[in-house]
This record gives sequence, structure tokens and C-alpha cells, in this order.
Amino acid sequence: MNVKLLDLAAQYEAIREDAEAEVLKVLRSQRMILGENVKGLEADVAAYSGAKFALGCASGSDALILALRAFGIGHGAMVAIPAFTFFATAGAVSLTGATPVFVDIEPESFNMDAASLERAFKKHKKKIKAVIPVHLYGQCADMDKITKVTKKFGAKVVEDAAQSIGASYKGKGAGAIGDVGCFSFYPTKNLGGVGDGGMVTTNNQKAFDTLAMLRVHGSKVRYYHKIVGMNSRLDELQAAVLRVKFRKLDEWTNRRIENAAYYGKLFGAAGLAGSVTPPAHVVDGRHVYNQYVIRCKKRDGLREHLTKAGVGTDIYYPVPLHFQDCYKALGYKKGSFPVSEAAAKEVLAIPVYPELKREEIKYVVDSIYAFYAGK
Ligand SMILES: *Cc1c(COP(=O)(O)O)cnc(C)c1O
Repeated sequence: MNVKLLDLAAQYEAIREDAEAEVLKVLRSQRMILGENVKGLEADVAAYSGAKFALGCASGSDALILALRAFGIGHGAMVAIPAFTFFATAGAVSLTGATPVFVDIEPESFNMDAASLERAFKKHKKKIKAVIPVHLYGQCADMDKITKVTKKFGAKVVEDAAQSIGASYKGKGAGAIGDVGCFSFYPTKNLGGVGDGGMVTTNNQKAFDTLAMLRVHGSKVRYYHKIVGMNSRLDELQAAVLRVKFRKLDEWTNRRIENAAYYGKLFGAAGLAGSVTPPAHVVDGRHVYNQYVIRCKKRDGLREHLTKAGVGTDIYYPVPLHFQDCYKALGYKKGSFPVSEAAAKEVLAIPVYPELKREEIKYVVDSIYAFYAGK
């Protein structure tokens, strides 16, 4: 059997006719930038996440940069982020001119640890101007704890919701909990375009007005620039396809959740407790399983075994941020963030995409079982 980590071609079959019709409409209209499709998708995502406003932009990475810049964050400021996340979270901070301050994660959720965040605030006094909790793999960070600490020190909360569209925390939608939420439509995300794309969400009118200027070179009235912004827009072609996919998002997300539940059942029955720890759903809210990530013993051996068995896997992420060459100068050491360091050695993402079949899930678990049984 061959089980890919993600099969976008299978998903495309479900939307092919509609998507191709919408793309053709855009091509024939020749309205390529910030038209009706972008407006429509912004309304869709705002309503879906429960935020008042949403603005399309060029990528999830840009969404983070726009959000930080909307609060005037740049040179001289510090921004706290988890040491264990996709690089873009850190890169966005650095590209504004600010300095990332790394924070450790919780072992069960892989998300930012509020106690570690509080230590960072105390160490850096008033320099940390914003915190970016990442809702990693599709589960929200513990926003109550993080917000409480962050507000105590007077900083902003920018949610990195790139992996968690449709996730929730105590009844609130990801992207509508902090001051600004950031989404990505990179093809492997739960709502993925046919190229790059992103979106920012907020409940704050003033932040929204600034974000709207920042995405078009800092101008409200064309050719008059109050601030220096960037060119970061969502294309009509992307938005047209994303709107078609958006109609399927809940159905697809529910299938991811069902697949995760089935894995949970099979792992429980397999008696692999000492070797494999399935992901824990620890927050009160919806986990949308952008990735199904197990913690495992002998990870690299298991991965090789699964590759041979025809099962696609990946490691998100093999290197914690404080070990990246580009951040050497920040002076962190081995042992600075032990939970992040352990996670980088033990995590393995296995297939969970919506079109996955039950027998394929069973095959993945059987293959994992065979590895630890020495078969
Ligand atoms: C994908 C991702 C991003 C960046 O999104 P792009 O659209 O690829 O720029 C940022 N943060 C996290 C956690 C991501 O997974």
C-alpha cells in the first residue's frame, strides 16, 4: 500500500469543476487584484473565525509582518515566540527589525508555555512589545494563560493561526482571540490555495485601518503615503479558488477530526504506550488537525521503516529556533528550552488528510506496530 502524507490531487477532484469555472471567470474579467473574490473571502473568513474584520494578503508570513507593523513593532522592540514552530514566526519578527525572544512549549500540546513566557517578560523588563502564540498543528495555545501574562506586561497578542483555521478555544475562533490573527493559505494548510496567500483578522477598527494601509504601500488615498507599507495583496485567482474550497472546509475538517479519533482508537488497542504517544487534545475547543503528530521512540528509524512501507511522513520541526544558524548571535544554549529540544527529536507527522481511508489509517498503525515489534 502507498499512503501519502498529503494528497492534494484527491482533494482537487472534489472541487475541480467549480474551481476551474471560477478561475476562468477571473481570467475573462481581467480583474486580478483586490476585487470581489478577495472581498468575499475576507467576509467568509471574518464570519468563520468570529472576527469583525479580515484582510487578504500575500502569505501567512506577510500576515505576521503586517500585524506586528500595525502596532509599530520594529527596531528596538522584542517579540516573544515559541522556540518550537515553523521558521516564519521568527522570520517575520526579524524582518520588522525587532528581536525574537524564544519561549519554551508545553510537552502535551507543543504550544507556548505561559510560565516560560512570564519568565521572558521578567528578564527583558519592558522591551517585549508583542507575543505570538502559535496554534500549532491545529490546536489553540492556552490563550487565557498567555493573554493574562501578556496584558499584565502591556504587550499585544498576535495569533499565528496559520495551521488552525476553524480551530477554537473556549468558544472563540482562532484568529479572533488576540489583537490580530494571522492565517496562511499555503497549499498544505487546511484551507490551501493554488499558490501563496494569507489573511489577517482583527476586532479592532484602528488596527484594521492601519493594516489596510500597510498592505498597499501605506496609502489610504492613492499616491499619498502616511506610513511606509508593503505590497502584500491576495490575488483574485487565489481568492476565487479559496472561496470554492472554503465551502468544503468544515466537511474536510470534520474528516480530519474523525481520522484523528480513529488513530487514537487504533493506537490505544495496539498497546504501543511505551513507544508512541498520540497527540493530546488538551484545550477546551476544536482541534482541526492540520497535522497529526506523534511523539515516538527511535523516531528516525521509525521514519525510515515507514518510508520503506510506503507511508509518507515528515518532521515538523527538526530544529528548534534557538539552534538555527541565523539566531546564533542571540546567545541561547543547548538546554535553554528543554521541552522544545526534546520535541524536535521525537515528533513525527503521519497522514491525516480528509480523503484518507480507514484501511489506510489501519495500515499506517500496523506498519508502526511492526517496527516496534521488530518485524
Ligand atoms: C505556514 C506557516 C506560516 C507561514 O505561512 P506562509 O503562507 O507559508 O507564509 C507561519 N506560521 C506557521 C506556524 C505556519 O505553519
